Amino acid sequence: MPDEFTKKQLLSFWSRVSIIDFFDCWEWAGYVNDSGYGILIICHTNRKQGYRVHRLAWLLTYGEIPTGQMVLHRCGNPSCCNTNHLYLGNHSDNMRDKVEHNRLRKQNRSLLLSSKRHSKQASSS
Ligand SMILES: [Zn+2]
Repeated sequence: MPDEFTKKQLLSFWSRVSIIDFFDCWEWAGYVNDSGYGILIICHTNRKQGYRVHRLAWLLTYGEIPTGQMVLHRCGNPSCCNTNHLYLGNHSDNMRDKVEHNRLRKQNRSLLLSSKRHSKQASSS
């Protein structure tokens, strides 16, 4: 592993992962960037490095991420650290996932909107 982590750093990482249910998404409770990815800054002996927390979760659970591989979310939730929701894939897997999850999100949104519209109609009549 190119980066070594101290016990304290590991504890501070997992203490910020909100685990409510083993099977649900484990939300990152720390800083989240504009794209929705959880970020943790770790101070190594002579440098600081920002890690995407889902990559960190993978690294700590399964070990090294092979070169050219990306850690992707089955659940489409970028701040999720549940290692059971993560898998390794390449750039095209990532693009396919993004399209799929965007489509699902849009569907959910339109379902939500249509159910809101229905409840408005119900309450106005
Ligand atoms: Zn998840």
